[in-house]
Amino acid sequence: MHPTEQAAEPHRAHPTGSAPRTGELQEPRRTDCPWCGSHRLRTRLRAPDLLQHKAGCFVLDRCQDCGHTFQNPALTAAGREFHCGDLHDGLGPAVAERLLGARHSPRRLRDAAGAMLSFGEPESWLDVGTGRALFPVVAKEVHPYIAFDGLDTGAVVELAAADGHVDEAHRGTLPELAPGLAGRYDAVSMFHHLEHAPDPRAELAAARIVLRPGGHLLIETADPGSRFARLLGRWWISHLQPQHLHLLPLRNVHRALEDLGYTVIVAERRSAHVPYDLTVALVLLVDRCLPGAGAPARPRPPGALRRARRAVLLRVAAPAVATAHAADRLLAPLARRTRFANAYRIIARKEGDRG
Ligand SMILES: [Zn+2]
Repeated sequence: MHPTEQAAEPHRAHPTGSAPRTGELQEPRRTDCPWCGSHRLRTRLRAPDLLQHKAGCFVLDRCQDCGHTFQNPALTAAGREFHCGDLHDGLGPAVAERLLGARHSPRRLRDAAGAMLSFGEPESWLDVGTGRALFPVVAKEVHPYIAFDGLDTGAVVELAAADGHVDEAHRGTLPELAPGLAGRYDAVSMFHHLEHAPDPRAELAAARIVLRPGGHLLIETADPGSRFARLLGRWWISHLQPQHLHLLPLRNVHRALEDLGYTVIVAERRSAHVPYDLTVALVLLVDRCLPGAGAPARPRPPGALRRARRAVLLRVAAPAVATAHAADRLLAPLARRTRFANAYRIIARKEGDRG
């Protein structure tokens, strides 16, 4: 789940009180594809931090052989903490949450839960990258007998457990925690989680460890093959830099799951499409044009006057944003049935004969 959907944690300046050096924030640039090892890479786009306006330019490369798209050079753990750990600059968490809210509408989440339940009702379910546990909250309303646990790297998952939104909180990454959770779950879900994972294939393998034989993995993730990607470029929501580390073609995930010993039983785009591409692109573009955008990262949150001025100007642009929102919704039935679909859903069953 995107960091903007996590509850905002207290603003943390770098320990030195200034921005850390670039070398601390980024890995060395790769010359090979992290998915297939090919050296046939091409730069897909360069983009600044459109959400928080922190300093830096980020590059997404695309593998010419397998289509895997990835941030290159990738952020280090310190870089992810610096760039993605808080959202007090730029648009701020409130606007970002509203923009991405369409992804987590109760109707969409209920539909996703229902898709899994058509393969049997699980007793125990782990939501990976759960953030504020939006999915478990909705799914538990409909299916109160399922025990939902949440896993996330942020403290927000512990707050979700304290509020009763998940039964148990697991704080950390799935690959780190999987050995201690081996065979505990009938279902595992990952909603727009793989984009943020440093090693998506390790997430798929770790999910297999925590699943019981016959258990199911549900994935919804951005589709880098969407026509919106080409149309909107750096303004496309799923190109969002520097938050998104990997964008995985459906066929790659499908093949990786089969190689790991899953059987893919659902692979489709129609249900996973979220009608927000034009809206988000326009808001990011308008925000970029407002005074103060592109300023280097500051150790303190922006002043109230600057935030108020930006809020007023955003309101002036509201009619255009409303039009984009209407267009997204109007085009959604068509987008779902064409390559404009911006995401895909996979459900895979863990087969029991490979340990
Ligand atoms: Zn590749």
